[in-house]
Amino acid sequence: MRKLYECRDRLQAQMLLDDLESHHIEVVILGDYLTGAAGELSAIQFPVLWVVQDDDYTRGRQLIDEYLTESIQASAAWQCARCGELIEGGFEICWNCLSPRE
Ligand SMILES: [Zn+2]
Repeated sequence: MRKLYECRDRLQAQMLLDDLESHHIEVVILGDYLTGAAGELSAIQFPVLWVVQDDDYTRGRQLIDEYLTESIQASAAWQCARCGELIEGGFEICWNCLSPRE
């Protein structure tokens, strides 16, 4: 097992996992949400992708780089017409005021 990539959130981790698995690379997500004892706040960590087979590491990194580059190109950031917030591409709704992208 080898640490491959620290993801921004659970959704990204899941998308990368699906992408890698479609290339027959076995990966697992660790460091996910850790639930504290009852009544305590949950500690949230960034999910981390690990390759199960060390030999897949180089190929895995390559695929992640490609995937991230593609997703950035496919979805350039946009500015909300209503509140002026800069929204990360890929979102169709402003996270700040919930206006749809125009
Ligand atoms: Zn907005």
